[in-house]
Amino acid sequence: MFISDEKYHCIVIGSGHAGCEAALASARMGCSTLLLTSNMDTIAFMPCNPSIGGPAKGHLAREVDALGGEMGRNIDKTHLHIRLLNTSKGPAVQALRAQADKKLYSTAMKQTLEQTENLEIKQDLVEDLWIEGGKLKGVVCRSGIAYESTTVIITTGTFLKGVIHCGDVSYPAGRAGEAPSEKLSDSFRRLGVQLGRLKTGTPPRAHKRSIDFSAAVPQPPSDKPLYFSFDPPERWKKDQLNCYLTYTTLKTKEIILANLHRSPLYSGKIQGPGPRYCPSIEDKIMRFADKPTHPVFLEPEGWDTNEIYIQGFSTSLPADVQLQMLRTITGLEKAEMMRPGYAIEYDFVFPTQLWPTLETKFLEGLFLAGQINGTTGYEEAAAQGIMAGINAALKVKGMDPIVLKRNEAYIGVLIDDLVTKGTQEPYRMMTARAEYRLLLRQDNADERLTPIGEKIGLIPFSRYQKFLNKQKAAAAEIERLSHIRVNLNQINFQGTLRDLLKRPEFRYVDLAPYDKQRMDLPDEVTDEVEIRIKYEGYLKRQESLAMDLKKMESLKLSPDLNYGAISSLSKEAREKLEKLKPLTLGQAARISGVSPADISVLNILLGKREKLGTAAQAS
Ligand code: FAD
Repeated sequence: MFISDEKYHCIVIGSGHAGCEAALASARMGCSTLLLTSNMDTIAFMPCNPSIGGPAKGHLAREVDALGGEMGRNIDKTHLHIRLLNTSKGPAVQALRAQADKKLYSTAMKQTLEQTENLEIKQDLVEDLWIEGGKLKGVVCRSGIAYESTTVIITTGTFLKGVIHCGDVSYPAGRAGEAPSEKLSDSFRRLGVQLGRLKTGTPPRAHKRSIDFSAAVPQPPSDKPLYFSFDPPERWKKDQLNCYLTYTTLKTKEIILANLHRSPLYSGKIQGPGPRYCPSIEDKIMRFADKPTHPVFLEPEGWDTNEIYIQGFSTSLPADVQLQMLRTITGLEKAEMMRPGYAIEYDFVFPTQLWPTLETKFLEGLFLAGQINGTTGYEEAAAQGIMAGINAALKVKGMDPIVLKRNEAYIGVLIDDLVTKGTQEPYRMMTARAEYRLLLRQDNADERLTPIGEKIGLIPFSRYQKFLNKQKAAAAEIERLSHIRVNLNQINFQGTLRDLLKRPEFRYVDLAPYDKQRMDLPDEVTDEVEIRIKYEGYLKRQESLAMDLKKMESLKLSPDLNYGAISSLSKEAREKLEKLKPLTLGQAARISGVSPADISVLNILLGKREKLGTAAQAS
């Protein structure tokens, strides 16, 4: 083993969506950071659908941006199609979704990483953790070089003992065309870490020239410019491309049913559970047996490629069957298949072995983020990546960690779910997982998180000023509308413009004829004004509910508490609390098997401790 002279504050393993955010956060916070990746040509690579956003995932991307992360800015530079989903629904579930140029997305992220101070990138495969005297010292690579570091963040995605399945063919791989990481999870096993197997899958890609797009329904992009970032950069290319909607047919179903015995999912070859909310087409045919057809979206993978991504058609059936299946989709009767779809199985770490900071409980200084923690999705990975990067940097600086609460961010919901409840199947973020949806809108992610990003040095001063100006402008506009009285006899209304805007039939734009002093404000300010006024009552209600959560979260539990000795707790609660070591009373209450009675026992205990503490101080 050759020990490199360089010593780092933080080493990040893997340059996927978690790794990029982790490395950028750590370096931007002033820590010397090394990003080690097995393949520098696939930085921020999108092995499945090259798209960012959609319900809940879009919220995560915006939150990453609001904290000072890169995903939002990167997709803003490189998207070829963007639109706002659920525009007919309330603001809590409206979400941006953008289709990326896959190559450009990766190039743009690589450029950002390369231009970041304090950040070095090296291509090497990490094979082992370097541990001395039970303490983390660094990592050891296949090249024989060992790198020393105070903290290490592992973000190896689907690569740990990855196996690709395509019908009856199976072979080791990290994803198509890339070698797996065979040894790293063995170093976890040696530490006694509990690992499981999960699977995910991707659809085939077809050649553009072989598709009859006239048989499909165009899905045009938004004609109004839309952005993920609150401080959007210039787009690299200006024009946008169409996506298309088409459908499978009865013939598709017939072919799948006739070949199901050749599917590794149904033959029992794949053991790991797959993502419930991104099922394969064979799963959909089986689960929704009465449905004759299923929607399929045709999405370009880039401006300079002819590959079309067949969204909704993920499969691990043999390649010859996939071609037959493709040719049964309306408009794809003459499809040329460029790449077959496949499923991949890989090792993951049960995330209940992590603290809410994403540091592992089993080895101090080691953090895990992304697919390795049992999640699926680029946004879920990026969200964990930025938090792991932030907390590793704060640890290096000897500062308190940051744990976002469930009422503060989807990121808080995601990490709390993982470390408190764990997961048995690939975890995907959904709006239904958040109890305070109206507080966690994508439009107010900056209000919730940008002050935190600024405090830790991830948000530059100029951007923070811009944010403060937006907040001030929205507050001033609400105040102004509260003082303009109008009389509208035709609808029997007398009151302020603020009251008028509360009426469901009125939008902010509709107030213009009655508002002589109206200023020309940017859309993001008027949207904010409209939401805050229209949903004032609901927001207040959610805020008051969130207060209860805040109280529970402020009651800290020591990780050294010996639950086994608290006889008034139920046996199940003692076991679960001992295993999970929750850090707050709120977290304890969310553990399944810990009842309200157990929580009151802990609450009384905390009360007694506080009294003892006060008495000790007084004496
Ligand atoms: P990845 O993006 O996988 O990045 C891992 C990184 O680690 C890579 O840079 C790799 O080179 C590097 N690496 C691995 N091992 C080592 C090592 N030992 N040393 C150094 N570097 C290493 N998501 C969805 O939301 N829906 C889907 O339907 C979906 N389908 C998918 C289908 C397939 C076939 C695949 C492969 C992924 C799919 N995903 C899907 C998941 C999505 O790609 C991941 O969730 C996301 O990319 C995870 O990000 P990550 O940063 O955790 O890991």
